[in-house]
Amino acid sequence: MIRGTALIAGGALVTALLAGCSLDAAHTASSPSSRQSHITGNPAPAPSLPSKAPTSAAPTSAAPTVSASPTPSDTSGSHDPVGPTPTGSPAYGKTGGLIPVITRIDTTDPVVFITIDDGFDKDPRVLSVLESRHVPVTPFLTVDAVRTKPGFFTSVQAITGQSVQDHTITHPHLSRLDLASQTHEICDAAETLTGFYGGRPWLFRPPYGEYDQTTRKAAASCGMKALVLWDVSLPHAVLRYANGSVLHRGDIILIHWRANLYRDINVAIDAAKAQGLRVAALQDYLPR
Ligand SMILES: [Zn+2]
Repeated sequence: MIRGTALIAGGALVTALLAGCSLDAAHTASSPSSRQSHITGNPAPAPSLPSKAPTSAAPTSAAPTVSASPTPSDTSGSHDPVGPTPTGSPAYGKTGGLIPVITRIDTTDPVVFITIDDGFDKDPRVLSVLESRHVPVTPFLTVDAVRTKPGFFTSVQAITGQSVQDHTITHPHLSRLDLASQTHEICDAAETLTGFYGGRPWLFRPPYGEYDQTTRKAAASCGMKALVLWDVSLPHAVLRYANGSVLHRGDIILIHWRANLYRDINVAIDAAKAQGLRVAALQDYLPR
């Protein structure tokens, strides 16, 4: 179902910060360091949206960003009010052989989005939180993190109603790899996750938030429709914002499948509620 209209702008410079999302010490880094990569040869931009200045809180692309409106027509289990039925058609997806880079959703809906990366820790308490609080989180899974116990995330899918998405096979620094290797990491992860969970991923999150033009090309060739970053992270149970000191409508929050995830999910939900926002399904705004 079509649920949003996306406006994609071409980008020239991307700053990706290492706000977690790792197999190593960076996973729990509280002060992410920045990494920059240049993107050239992008397609001519569609109507350009204001870009965000890079900050220390999250990877922020100078552009493109995405504007998603109108609103989803359901809340995938949320008890909160919903917006009007969408009437637009999506324009997001592959353009000129590249997929857009999305750091937040530009929406007037009072919503934020929770994304959870990797998959190493499989705490059953998390399932209880997801079930009791009705939060439609989007998991971005690394195959090597879940292959020994994929069934845990089958339960996550069943509880949240959200499909698992692509976060590579081995969690490499993609911008250090050539096109063939990047394609292998993204495409083969999609194939394996499809085998585990029955639905092929269409959203891709690069490990460490690191990517380059080759990544966007590789992900497009694997059928991905967007490269999804974030603008809020949650290291050590404290929200870290790319912009300001509060959550904004359309923010994408990054947390991880790790030991304190059940706590982190509650922190994120409570912060949203305190600001009159609800957790919505990212996949409603970035449909298959
Ligand atoms: Zn990761």
